Amino acid sequence: MMHQNEMKLEFDSRSCNESFARVTVAAFMTQLDPTLEEVADVKTAVSEAVTNAIIHGYEGRVEKVTIFCRLEGQELYVEVRDYGKGIADVPRAMEPLYTTKEECDRAGMGFSFMEAFMDSLEVESAPERGTCVKMRKRISRETDGGSDDECRDGTNARCGEAIGNRQERL
Ligand code: ATP
Ligand code: MG
Repeated sequence: MMHQNEMKLEFDSRSCNESFARVTVAAFMTQLDPTLEEVADVKTAVSEAVTNAIIHGYEGRVEKVTIFCRLEGQELYVEVRDYGKGIADVPRAMEPLYTTKEECDRAGMGFSFMEAFMDSLEVESAPERGTCVKMRKRISRETDGGSDDECRDGTNARCGEAIGNRQERL
C-alpha cells in the first residue's frame, strides 16, 4: 500500500510563528527522505504563504492560520489557509511584481517564489472569506542506499542533515 500520512497545524498570525511553521513542515517531510535543496524549497514556499496570511490576510490582527500537510507516496501536499481579507482578483495577485503593499517595501514576488519552488500552486480566495494556498511537490527518491523504512522511522542520514545544517536559520 502507498505510504500516506497527514498533519494539521493551527497557530496565531504572529510573525514569530513564520519560522515555527516552516520548520514544522520541514520536520514532517523528512519522512520522504528529501534532499537539502528540496527541504529549502518547501521552507521558502511555506514561509511566503504564511507571511502573506499574516500581513495581507489579517493585516496585523491576531487570528488563526492553519496548515494542512499530506504525504502520499513521494508527493508532499501543503495547504496554508487564513480566514482574513481575501483576494478579489487572484490571477492578478499572482503576477510577478504585483503587490498591494508597495509602501511596506513588498516586492510582489511571494507567489512567484511559491510557483518556482513547488511543482504546482493553486490559490482559492474570496473577499472577506479568506485565502487558501495549495501546493504540491514531488520529493526525489534516493536510488543508492537507505530503504524506505529507515527514512520513516527518522534514522535516515539525509533527513537528519537537512534539519541539523539549517539550525542557525530556524
Ligand atoms: P512579497 O511577497 O514579495 O513580499 P507581496 O506579498 O505583496 O510581496 P505576493 O506574495 O506575490 O507579493 O502577493 C501578491 C499580492 O496578493 C499581495 O500584495 C496581496 O495583495 C495579495 N495577497 C497574497 N496573499 C494574500 C492573503 N493571504 N490574503 C489577502 N491578500 C493576499
Ligand atoms: Mg508575499
